[in-house]
Amino acid sequence: MVSFRTFSHTLVNVFFPERCLGCQEFNTWLCSHCFNQLPLITEQKCPLCDTSTTPDGATCFKCSGDKENALDGTLVASTYSDPLLRKMIHFYKYRFVSGLSLPLAQVLAQSLIHSHLPTPDIIVPVPLHKRRLRWRGFNHAEKIVTDLDLKIPHTSDTLIRVRYTPPQAHIKKRNARITSIKGAFKVDPKEVANVTNKNILLIDDITTTGATLNECAVALKKAGAARVWSIVIAKE
Ligand SMILES: [Zn+2]
Ligand SMILES: [Zn+2]
Repeated sequence: MVSFRTFSHTLVNVFFPERCLGCQEFNTWLCSHCFNQLPLITEQKCPLCDTSTTPDGATCFKCSGDKENALDGTLVASTYSDPLLRKMIHFYKYRFVSGLSLPLAQVLAQSLIHSHLPTPDIIVPVPLHKRRLRWRGFNHAEKIVTDLDLKIPHTSDTLIRVRYTPPQAHIKKRNARITSIKGAFKVDPKEVANVTNKNILLIDDITTTGATLNECAVALKKAGAARVWSIVIAKE
């Protein structure tokens, strides 16, 4: 007699078998060969102007004078123009293939290893609003942080999304994105001591204008963070 669990698992596999998104090899979402083909970005740019080349994606001298900016830099691991990477992100975020968080975390790890960033005191995933979390079932950025397994404290309680905002992917204009996300985050008052004078690494999957990452940095710096750097898998 086949148990219901085995039966339902078989059903899932019939409709949606686990195969490498690159070469179709069975029993893996990404084989080691295809993983090694993923491009890593070596030349990083300022996250604000996206033109000046800076070490590890530091905010350039000119842009750091912008009083709206709180982000010290953004390291971009890979490129969204790579079809396989784009497919991985799409399957992870919109087809809920949670097994892809591990190879995506490994892409981030590779980029961090090649960077000269000092070890952060804490890692903070970009939080989802409760409403969005209910819909998705898990915070995709948080799962990547867990899989990164860097032996650095990470917390999903520090930063709270206080306001629901439409997904940034649905807002096309840069200025509209920046306005929509303003004031959307705050540090939990109970967590302020864990942030004051700390070097923080923010993690998200993709960035477009950097507005979300910057708003997280604004909230963290208001709570006394010394430095806020971020790392993303790709820039859209
Ligand atoms: Zn493959
Ligand atoms: Zn710049």
